[in-house]
Amino acid sequence: MTTNGRVPNFINGQWQNPAAQEFSDVINPATGESLAQAPLGGDEDVAAAVESAAAAFPEWRSTPPEERIQYLFRLKRLFEDHREELARLIATENGKTLAEARAELQRAIENIEVACGIPLMMQGYNLEDVARGIDEMMIRQPLGVVAAITPFNFPVMVPFWFIPYGIACGNTFIVKPSEKVPLAMRKVFELVEQLGLPPGVLNLVNGAKPAVDALLDHPAVRAISFVGSTPVAKYIYSRASANGKRVQCQGGAKNHVVILPDADMETTTQVVSDSAFGCAGQRCLAVSVAITVGEARNTFRDAIADSANSIVVGPGIEESSQMGPVITRDSKTRVEKLIDQGASEGASVLLDGRRTKIPNYERGNFVKPTVLDNVPPGGELSKTEIFGPVLSLIPAETIEEALNILSQSLYGNAASIFTTSGAAARKFRYEVGAGNVGINIGVAAPMAYFPFSGWKDSFFGVLHSQGRDAVEFYTEKKVVIERWPKYWSRKF
Ligand code: NAD
Repeated sequence: MTTNGRVPNFINGQWQNPAAQEFSDVINPATGESLAQAPLGGDEDVAAAVESAAAAFPEWRSTPPEERIQYLFRLKRLFEDHREELARLIATENGKTLAEARAELQRAIENIEVACGIPLMMQGYNLEDVARGIDEMMIRQPLGVVAAITPFNFPVMVPFWFIPYGIACGNTFIVKPSEKVPLAMRKVFELVEQLGLPPGVLNLVNGAKPAVDALLDHPAVRAISFVGSTPVAKYIYSRASANGKRVQCQGGAKNHVVILPDADMETTTQVVSDSAFGCAGQRCLAVSVAITVGEARNTFRDAIADSANSIVVGPGIEESSQMGPVITRDSKTRVEKLIDQGASEGASVLLDGRRTKIPNYERGNFVKPTVLDNVPPGGELSKTEIFGPVLSLIPAETIEEALNILSQSLYGNAASIFTTSGAAARKFRYEVGAGNVGINIGVAAPMAYFPFSGWKDSFFGVLHSQGRDAVEFYTEKKVVIERWPKYWSRKF
């Protein structure tokens, strides 16, 4: 539909103009051009979406799981057929490279695939004769209307940590994407439109805080899934749980790697460089701090600076680019100020990505890879989530000292160790306070059939996204105990 550049909603199986009065520009972060207008309100649209999702629930819930997953099989095929188009949209509005956008879509597809196992995963269990003639069973039932609120950095993958499981379990769903990147989900919903899903089963509402608040307060919304920054995660967790909803909130991160002197330095450098600077450091699993132990300090410091310096920075949409811009002008300013702060705290700037200008893309939000050496462990920079292409190096004498530095972090999204020692790896795995742990892995992203398990201020809730946790989250358990006296006393 034409909307004068305003991003529409998809409610009750139809495209609808947003009721919002205020809009913000969706900006291409590589060029500074406006791509579209994203609504900032959304509360009235949420009311309409909840009404339609609630009306669709009884019929969808009683649709056999086997039938429900047929829509997901079709969606997987549509994703594969439109992968390139979607990747280009993601690269345009988010700024990441085409290779990164394709990888993101693969992760979304894998979550669709796993949710196709719902007829097995949603099963309960039972036992006959828990007392004479009495049988007991646990069955899982969907909750009703559920919603997901998602961030800018993975415009398609993150919503698909939730949507496939939610609807496969028999819930009806509302997704509210980030107002910074609404166009990829718009395209996804053009594919959803082709599925022939009953109206109201899967709805798209664009908006900002008013839309979120309306979802958090609406009595018919049973569960909220959130991914984004920690302050917003805390806010959503407390407001939604005060309203009696089931909530899972994945927050921000400050991920550390520990590099031991026995690590294979060539692989380590490549893997850490990909992790710190891939997606311009805007991955919640990106390495932000590398703690080098003993002798590893000098070898790693020189190698990582060389590797980071060789990364080709440019617009994500060009195949030759290896790293794109950060999402907004504000992000660029914030990241550059944090680099200034690191330098003023006593760190030395080994590689400086401030004041980057890419020819022909002077209005882009580019920050080149930056490496800071000797970052003071107690300083602000070592604690703050930067969410940009900046790697801080901190030297330590022993693995114990490294683990101690790591334990001070408020966040616990991911942590990795690089070593050839099984004993050191085991110690790290055993002691580290993070939910996603890598052993010689830079981006410890769980596959769709494992939970995405942040700890500490990186997660608020009990059940995580993806796989079995998602099935637990999107279903209510019901235990039935039954006795049939006549049957019990019947003689055969
Ligand atoms: P954000 O918190 O600004 O926004 C996330 C969502 O919340 C958006 O849909 C936005 O519209 C909404 N929102 C923003 N402010 C709000 C408010 N005051 N009240 C109600 N809703 C609000 O996050 P972002 O900048 O889009 O994404 C980056 C952040 O997400 C980083 O902190 C990153 O670490 C985190 N993240 C975490 C994970 C994880 O798995 N833990 C994954 C991806 C991103």
